[in-house]
Amino acid sequence: MTAVMTAGLAAAVATAVGLGVLSGVGREPEATTAPRPTQATTHALATTSDSTSDKPLAGKVVVIDPGHQLGNSRFPSKINRLVDAGGFKKPCNTTGTSTNSGYAEATFNFKVAKVVQRRLKKLGATVVMTRKANRYDRWGPCVDFRGRLGNKLKKQQLGADKSRAGTRADLKLSIHGDGSAAGNRGFHIIVSTHKTGHRATSKAYAKRTRAALWDAGFKRSTYIGGGTALSFRGDLATLNLSRIPAVMVELGNMRNAKDAKQMTSAKGQRKYGRALVRAIRAQLEHG
Ligand SMILES: [Zn+2]
Repeated sequence: MTAVMTAGLAAAVATAVGLGVLSGVGREPEATTAPRPTQATTHALATTSDSTSDKPLAGKVVVIDPGHQLGNSRFPSKINRLVDAGGFKKPCNTTGTSTNSGYAEATFNFKVAKVVQRRLKKLGATVVMTRKANRYDRWGPCVDFRGRLGNKLKKQQLGADKSRAGTRADLKLSIHGDGSAAGNRGFHIIVSTHKTGHRATSKAYAKRTRAALWDAGFKRSTYIGGGTALSFRGDLATLNLSRIPAVMVELGNMRNAKDAKQMTSAKGQRKYGRALVRAIRAQLEHG
């Protein structure tokens, strides 16, 4: 969620992070009744047939941003501090939303991010995370840090291969869940309207992400984007401050019972993660 909500709600949430055991790489059967993707969306996800290496993303650096932090509601003075959001000020961070039963958005974001991180590493990519933990005794980082991370890679952010130090990361994905009216459902993808960054590439990446989520059986937003599942906004520091192609995904509406069921299950989280990795791979291999 990208809007401010009360701290008390998130404070009531108590889901410790325990990474589920990742199973095989095969796709799961479709769990929804979403129609099959069109030829066009399928084509958008095509990967190169000559990609025979088991590390097809070697040398690539991807920034993954699990939105919010579980403990944000416990540090109001910290997260309400104003920071640069791309030419204007905005609070450092917000608490995020939750399901009606209290499953925190911060936890959902983090679990999906860990699926993405693990799979990208298997494909040979270097993954830089904006936060490495999901804990009640932590807050942040602020949105300006999330936005700038990856603009100039540091040696300590990289693994064994330091050759990318001083360069920009290749791609950024910010992972969120929305908190809207209970009747609304589906995912949407946000691209910055700011002149900075790589708007055209970010938009192409957003379309690949849309295709991947659709192909996995997830529904497009019924309430944002007029059926396109795309949203163009100028108020998000995480996107505005990125000097690399970047999108923010709102993977579902946590206040909708059907979306919440997918978002809180380990199976659903793996399914989101796999789809997001397919989109990242397609974007990195085809630009
Ligand atoms: Zn959020």
